[in-house]
Amino acid sequence: MLDELNRRIDDKRDELVALTQNLIRIPTINPPGDAYTPCAELVGARMAKMGFQVDYIRAHDTPGDSDRFPRTNVIARKQGRHPGPTVHFNSHIDVVEVGEGWTVDPFGAEVKDGKIYGRGSCDMKGGLSASMIAIQAYLDTNPQFNGAIELSGTVDEESGGFGGVAHLAGMGLFSRPRVDHVIIPEPLNKDRVCLGHRGVWWAEIETFGVQAHGSMPFLGDSAIRHMGSVLHAFESELYPQLAHKRTQMPVVPEGARQSTLNLNSIHGGESETGAGGKPDDYDGLPSPNVAESCRMILDRRFLIEEDLSTVKNEVVSILEGLKSDRPSFDYAIKDIMEVLPTMTERDAPVVQAVSDGIRSVLGKEPEYVISPGTYDQKHIARIGHLHDCIAYGPGILDLAHMADEYVGIDDMVESAKVMGHALHVLLTGDARAS
Ligand SMILES: [Zn+2]
Repeated sequence: MLDELNRRIDDKRDELVALTQNLIRIPTINPPGDAYTPCAELVGARMAKMGFQVDYIRAHDTPGDSDRFPRTNVIARKQGRHPGPTVHFNSHIDVVEVGEGWTVDPFGAEVKDGKIYGRGSCDMKGGLSASMIAIQAYLDTNPQFNGAIELSGTVDEESGGFGGVAHLAGMGLFSRPRVDHVIIPEPLNKDRVCLGHRGVWWAEIETFGVQAHGSMPFLGDSAIRHMGSVLHAFESELYPQLAHKRTQMPVVPEGARQSTLNLNSIHGGESETGAGGKPDDYDGLPSPNVAESCRMILDRRFLIEEDLSTVKNEVVSILEGLKSDRPSFDYAIKDIMEVLPTMTERDAPVVQAVSDGIRSVLGKEPEYVISPGTYDQKHIARIGHLHDCIAYGPGILDLAHMADEYVGIDDMVESAKVMGHALHVLLTGDARAS
């Protein structure tokens, strides 16, 4: 049975390449969330051809949704002959901005040396295509399957997933009894099972000052200099502290096996362009003022061994400490996003099934990893309360979001075989069947 499945997938190699190319050629850049509808429709049409019931769900009133940039998700379901478990493959259809440094057309989907190049090839249109081809090959060999198969193409993963998986999970589409097992084909490499991710805390710190003329700064109080003292305290106290917090989670790359902090943005004083009441096309200098406000956005990634209140307290205690060092220091801190770390158990059915597939297809033991950043698994765990979920898919994680992003064709073919194998195991309970 599984040999036949593998053969079918090999036969569909050209189809897999063409499907991936067609998906890459739709530039679903997020933000702003361009071309979601045609991309969702391409996926939907293909699933409908395989006999799936296809629904398009627009996430009205979620961040970024508008008639110009509708948040269009697609979800497809095919019911088998008899009731049984449901296996769901979820991929995000959005890609990040192109950026600089490309030597190929980012939306040309050029094939070169066994690789398909393009923005989103690796993250994660290659994985989406591989899962669609796996399903197709599975149906060819098992037209009389029991249970149900689902596939979704969802939006906005790169901007938090609120109009995508979070929205669908809020509708009950990622909960039992509708769904039992979820595989997210994010690019974690074909021989790795990604069990979950570290936690995230995003916060905005604002320091306050008093405005005055820039020629007489002693009449005011600079919010930027106050923020400078925050940065200094982070360097001397917080960063060394974080470097010592190591995790038992198998995070890849290894550098992320500790707590990390990035400062995503910082801005003080008047804006150089736009904002501050200036027209968007103004590109002149700001006027000479002492800054009354400075804002910084923190991106703290934390470990399963840490708890969120401690993570927050580390920052707050530094800010409070500055109050005694600097008499006029004042600040506000506001949470922007909180995601708890998540890690699926190694003996969970979906982990076992994909591991079995890796052993059978690749002839090696799978590696179990944790992603340094979060992905849509967070919404499935938190909103859907479904914990039998992992990420597994082709592509090299390090290439995601970079120039000249690509996905290897052999990797896609092999991971499609692993997904087909896992689908079989999950629907039949028949591990190592052949
Ligand atoms: Zn991704």
